[in-house]
Amino acid sequence: MQVSDSKITSFNDIKMSYSGPGWLPVDEIYPSDIKQDQKGKILNRAITQLKQSEGLDLIKKSKVLGRFRYRVRIKRTDRIYKGNLTLSDKDKRRFLINCRVFGERQHNKKAESRDITFACSQYSNCPSCKVAYHNGKALDVAHRFAAVIQANKSKYLRKGVFTLPENIRDQLKTSKQMAAFRARAIEVVNKKYGCGKDYKGVYKNGMIGIRGVIHPFSSHEPFKDSPHFHVNWLALILSGDEVINADRNFNEDDLRWFHREWATEAKKEAIKQGLKGAEDIPDHLTVKLSWVPALHNLAEFNQARLRFWYDERSQLEDLEDCVKAVDLDKEMILMRFQRDKYDYFAVWSIDDYMTSQDRMLKVKGNTASYGFLRRFASFAPTLGVKVWRDKDDFEPITALSERIQFKRRYKSRWNKDKRRAEIVACLYVTKLTDQDKPESWKEVDPWTVRGEMLMIGSKKRYLYGVEPGRSPPDRGG
Ligand SMILES: [Zn+2]
Repeated sequence: MQVSDSKITSFNDIKMSYSGPGWLPVDEIYPSDIKQDQKGKILNRAITQLKQSEGLDLIKKSKVLGRFRYRVRIKRTDRIYKGNLTLSDKDKRRFLINCRVFGERQHNKKAESRDITFACSQYSNCPSCKVAYHNGKALDVAHRFAAVIQANKSKYLRKGVFTLPENIRDQLKTSKQMAAFRARAIEVVNKKYGCGKDYKGVYKNGMIGIRGVIHPFSSHEPFKDSPHFHVNWLALILSGDEVINADRNFNEDDLRWFHREWATEAKKEAIKQGLKGAEDIPDHLTVKLSWVPALHNLAEFNQARLRFWYDERSQLEDLEDCVKAVDLDKEMILMRFQRDKYDYFAVWSIDDYMTSQDRMLKVKGNTASYGFLRRFASFAPTLGVKVWRDKDDFEPITALSERIQFKRRYKSRWNKDKRRAEIVACLYVTKLTDQDKPESWKEVDPWTVRGEMLMIGSKKRYLYGVEPGRSPPDRGG
């Protein structure tokens, strides 16, 4: 079933018009910044109301997430591989349905063992592989940045979120269109440090290291197209064989400069793309600047805490975050969204949810490196960074490998870093031959299982560190 409606609901003096899928079931709109336990109470109230008015048996997400994900996967698989299947289709179908259910326990000569999950790697079909892929990328970029920060004693990682006016956002439909805006945001950042490209596309006056990510959807209403750009950078200018620390704190004037420059560039791009209303783009556009005290964090917590998981995440995670309760029999979901600092609820069908997922799975090439982060290995020596291939020195004895099976249970837990409740997966494993014996299932730390948290199968995995003997001159800053 696909439900689609649009409704207006109101709360005190707030009017909420909704034009997403599903419908607005309850008159609950409340400020997003209220305490988490109050939010829980309002959610319970909404669940009770929907039971009375619509006969929905909604179960809270932490109790139902595993079954919900499985249902989505089965429906998704049936939809893709229906009808007469070729032999290879049958294999793909089986891998998609069983993604991360089975795996292998390997043993080596030193009598060590490790567990590996088998993933389907169908990034455009499998939400869990797509999320793991993004997490793997985020970790890789964070490691690159952290190595540069340590080798050059750069205090801060700088972050900017570049936004567009609503009427322009609506018109950006292709990755190519969005990438052109992202390139403009990158130009703005480069310009701030006097770096830029000449007419041949070669950097003059050196280059800084930048990572740019397109988020095509709104983070709080992920069914909505709302392209914006997350940009991370290190204000270290790499010029020839010299590294110059150009970092400094921004003041009000700098902020205004960013707003103005971004507006100018965005307007030029909008006109170039022939977008409606391009001429009316205001002289200032919102750029949210923030920074991470990376060196301080390293000293204090032994981690740079660069928060790349946030910028590089797959927006499929945003969509799943909005799921609050599910009625699996009727295949209906209670979703909670946020707009203008207010929370509201909508009821979606699982088909609605899958349609939104499909649009996110289709997004390709939303991340890009610029400056010295691009072809990083060749610039690394000048930056004082050592790069090496992750050598897998675990040599499994094939004859000893055993087939294993995984299961996941979900619990709600408070995350201090993200300052919100989140659902954590508990992972259990057993040998395939013992799957019917309840006592054989053992809980394992998901981080010790290869392929569970991140896609590690990639042959292109690199590690980064500070070049030994590197003692960066104190350049101030
Ligand atoms: Zn998969």
